[in-house]
Amino acid sequence: MQKGNISVQTENIFPIIKQFLYSDQEIFLRELIANATDATSKIKTLSSRGDVKGDLGDLTIEVILDEEAKTLTIRDKGIGMSEEEVDKYLNQVAFSSAEDFLKKYKDENAIIGHFGLGFYSAFMVADKVEVFTKSYKRKKAVVWTCKGDPAYTLDNTDKKQRGTDIVLHISEDSTEFLSKSRIQELLDKYCKFLPVPIKFGTTTETVYEGEGEEKEEKKIEKDNIINNPHPIWKKRPNDLTDEDYKNFYNELYPFSSPPLFWIHLNIDFPFNLTGILYFPKLTNNVEVQKNKIQLYSNQVYVTDNVSEIVPEFLTLLHGVIDSPDIPLNVSRSYLQSDRNVKKITSYITKKVADKLDNMFKKDRENFEEKWNNMGIFVKYGMLSEDKFYDRAEKFALLKNVDDKFFTLEEYKEKVKDNQTDKNERVVMLYTNNPTMEMDSYTIAARKAGYDVLKMDTTLDNHFMQKLEQKLEKTGFIRVDSDTLDKLIDKDEKRESVLNESQQEKIKTAFTEQITDTGANIQLEALSPDDQPVMITKPEFMRRMREMSAMNGMDMSAMPDSYNVVVNTNHPLVAERLLKAKKKQGELAKHLYNLALLNQGMLRGTELSTFINKSIEYLTK
Ligand code: ADP
Repeated sequence: MQKGNISVQTENIFPIIKQFLYSDQEIFLRELIANATDATSKIKTLSSRGDVKGDLGDLTIEVILDEEAKTLTIRDKGIGMSEEEVDKYLNQVAFSSAEDFLKKYKDENAIIGHFGLGFYSAFMVADKVEVFTKSYKRKKAVVWTCKGDPAYTLDNTDKKQRGTDIVLHISEDSTEFLSKSRIQELLDKYCKFLPVPIKFGTTTETVYEGEGEEKEEKKIEKDNIINNPHPIWKKRPNDLTDEDYKNFYNELYPFSSPPLFWIHLNIDFPFNLTGILYFPKLTNNVEVQKNKIQLYSNQVYVTDNVSEIVPEFLTLLHGVIDSPDIPLNVSRSYLQSDRNVKKITSYITKKVADKLDNMFKKDRENFEEKWNNMGIFVKYGMLSEDKFYDRAEKFALLKNVDDKFFTLEEYKEKVKDNQTDKNERVVMLYTNNPTMEMDSYTIAARKAGYDVLKMDTTLDNHFMQKLEQKLEKTGFIRVDSDTLDKLIDKDEKRESVLNESQQEKIKTAFTEQITDTGANIQLEALSPDDQPVMITKPEFMRRMREMSAMNGMDMSAMPDSYNVVVNTNHPLVAERLLKAKKKQGELAKHLYNLALLNQGMLRGTELSTFINKSIEYLTK
């Protein structure tokens, strides 16, 4: 038997491993199973090259829990290690890399939970580790034992089977890892798609044999294989059906609605990356749907926080990314500046834009059908990534109140003749609540021959602002932001039928009645067919308010400001109100209330008083 000390500079590194990495203890299992998988893949490679003769036998990795003995064993039938290799890999190399790691990140708070501490992570949960191993090259097997201090022993053992058994004697403060359900949970989390079958105990299945009276119930024991060694992202797209993709989505996110479509990623150069990104059905509550992409490295689960690897807007997608080229044992800030990560980011962005572009060109109708669900995503992308904007400009769609879709270019073409103002600016009109408050405004605008867009998603204010920056001489204005003849300012002026002193009288009648400090009363000579009194909300202020509110700012200190436009050419104003004596104030108030009602701004007691008043008028 050989005894010795593991070659390290720091005497007492084990307590550090234990404490320092406490929060990520559970990754020991992933590390050990990943090693077992590597050893198994290596023997397969050697065999396929003819370097190992004969049948390799069953290569299933086994995870064996012995609650009584308080051990957890990871058994593989891979290449194993010779005595010299144990010395080299376990006594020297492995440990020094763990030591390096600790030295490097001791002072760093923000460590990601997915570094490869490797074999030595076993000591986070075990106070004694035994490694029984037999190399494919040797007759002799050895056992290495270490009790969590630099001293180890190396001895002969009579292991028959090729491969390695790592036996963890679970320590008192880590007994959670002696629970079957806890281990099953970890296997599900980290090992679900590892490329070698992994067995954890057995399950029983009930089968029926025979027919009718003879029918017999039988229970059979089956290996409990916890993983799917051939996940579809590793397969060729040509070999897969839509059903396969949908089933996989369901496997990843049970109980979700089916995805809209997906992109199969596959690239070898200049980095290696496979995966499938799904476009989920997005609802307005974007936040809860974020960060669902799972990151794998050679089918080993790493994390579901991919915010460093994919651009922010793509975190809305779901699915898996698998790349051995993403460095895992580093801090976040380092990851962001990593060249491979940068390339991966732009590759994924490009792939997503390609896919959308392709769908748009190939089947526009289908693209339009999906727009309601993916519009948010595309807009989000255009807002946050300039490169994506440049691609999406061609397929991003605007929808008008007739539910017809247009690209930006098509829409500009459609409205430019009728909706260009005196400054040569194309004015696009929109509503963000086509069914309620602004109905009469929308109707009036359409009657005047204008088109009205629906801009009713949470991102639209930001989106319009972006388009105004990007598109030349184009602006967006909500249908209620001004009176009809000034929405698109064409320099045509109408004369008022009232003289100055009459106008003064009208103005006073309203000023006396309207107490709201946010209201700004103005007289306008509009068409006699327009409303007598109208509420308008200047675009700029309103949009800024809404955007600030969306960004979480408290708007209560800032009263809603709006214009009360009195149409001096409407008969109710020019004749009835002007001539009214005792009831002038009451009439002005009623007309104002009507305008508020039209904007959905008349509420509570104001509203009920108004209704009663109306009934009174009708009764007379
Ligand atoms: P890494 O896997 O990153 O190289 P580890 O500390 O996990 O670092 O392992 C060190 C080395 O020990 C491995 O590279 C491998 O050569 C050897 N090793 C570990 N586990 C096994 C195993 N189950 N079978 C064969 N060799 C192993």
